[in-house]
Amino acid sequence: MQIAHLLKEKPVNSTVEIKGWVKSRRDSKNLSFLDITDGSCLKGLQVIADAGLSNYQNEILKLTAGCSIQVTGLFAESPAKGQDLELQAREIIIHGWADPDEYPLQKKKHSFEFLRTLSHLRARTNSLGAMARIRSRLSFAIHQFFQERGFIQVHTPIITTSDCEGAGEMFTVTSFDLNNPAKNNGHVDFNRDFFGQRASLTVSGQLEAEAYALALSNVYTFGPTFRAENSNTSRHLAEFWMLEPEMAFCDLDGDMNLAEEMLQHLVRVALEECSDDLDLFGRFIDKNLLSRLNNILDNSFVRMTYTEAVSQLEKSGRNFEFPVAWGMDLQSEHERFLAEELCKCPVIVKDYPKKLKPFYMRVNDDNNTVAAMDILFPKIGEIIGGSQREERLSVLMERMTETGIDHDTYSWYLDLRRFGSAPHAGFGLGFERLLLFVTGLSNIRDVIPFPRTPGSATL
Ligand code: ATP
Ligand code: MN
Repeated sequence: MQIAHLLKEKPVNSTVEIKGWVKSRRDSKNLSFLDITDGSCLKGLQVIADAGLSNYQNEILKLTAGCSIQVTGLFAESPAKGQDLELQAREIIIHGWADPDEYPLQKKKHSFEFLRTLSHLRARTNSLGAMARIRSRLSFAIHQFFQERGFIQVHTPIITTSDCEGAGEMFTVTSFDLNNPAKNNGHVDFNRDFFGQRASLTVSGQLEAEAYALALSNVYTFGPTFRAENSNTSRHLAEFWMLEPEMAFCDLDGDMNLAEEMLQHLVRVALEECSDDLDLFGRFIDKNLLSRLNNILDNSFVRMTYTEAVSQLEKSGRNFEFPVAWGMDLQSEHERFLAEELCKCPVIVKDYPKKLKPFYMRVNDDNNTVAAMDILFPKIGEIIGGSQREERLSVLMERMTETGIDHDTYSWYLDLRRFGSAPHAGFGLGFERLLLFVTGLSNIRDVIPFPRTPGSATL
């Protein structure tokens, strides 16, 4: 039985069997206490092994951290400590040893940096195990949230031939022999490559999601996304998970409302259903974690235009590293000032200069800004980027010409405006950025099992 299940159901005085890994062993007279975990929850289970067990001397006394065992015994209230529950072993089978001279995860606390060098073993630590459980629960909560609201999940392609906005640099997907690719006039000839054209790993499923939103109304895609940008920061991965809902007959206000409701919902799920794991992070990573999370639920996000944000930044009197002026992109330090210091809560900045944003965002009546919105979180900066999409064929074509986007390549995208076009909007949530916020961890490499960053891709 899973330990989580056992601790929830508490079938006291019945015989149960558990399987897991030893965290620690402590011996007293003719008795050993084994702390066992199976990863199903943060808490371990105390197993009492007495000297009467046939393998006590030659096996149990040799158990060390990391060994895997199977225990059958009586699940009972611990006589010593009243409330506590323990498993009084009748039989212990050892499945796998872990030589203590070689096993790198002894009971002491390890730094996250050190654990990153052990990506195949770090899930066995309390903190990475807690992260994995929260990640799984919130991934499920995303599906629940959208499914309950009638959204249809669309599996947008991972290999794509459309470059969403030329946003991130993309990883090329090829089956060429790199030492001898087909060439034409000295250039690599992708027309003779696997797909008959240049293909890449997707930087966003948005454009494909739009095609489905303009058929199924409300859709979402949630999957891995790739950016070959060389930004070696604590908030960027080369492979990350992005959630992208797309809604037909929806404007920017509807988009912002949904994003806010969803973020509050996900934080509430974490607080209610991952409380043990969050407590761990609250105790060891960030003392203010729980109050910061609760704060999200209590207050609505502050909304301001880009123009207002710039004037607030100018008025702040701060000496920012990057200059602030209307028309310049907000840098991470600016985003964090707005959320952490000015508003002390999440901020939605909307209506950005059209020059800063991709071609598909809807041009506002001022013809100078677009209906874009970014959600900025304390400690994180941008967690969501979204917009209302340009549904007017002529305006979209004009924007594509302006930004140098080939009409023929995107004729399918223009078709969506030629045939039954409708106002529509959506956003992208970086799942790992959400997990950074929810766990209080400071490096994005610690909220994904096997991080891919410039110069590093283990396993
Ligand atoms: P940033 O300015 O932070 O690099 P962006 O504006 O390039 O992000 P978008 O293209 O708007 O990002 O992507 C939508 C969301 O995906 C972002 O709000 C962020 O949460 C997340 N995201 C973007 N790039 C990365 C990355 N390299 N690693 C992890 N998450 C990312
Ligand atoms: Mn963005």
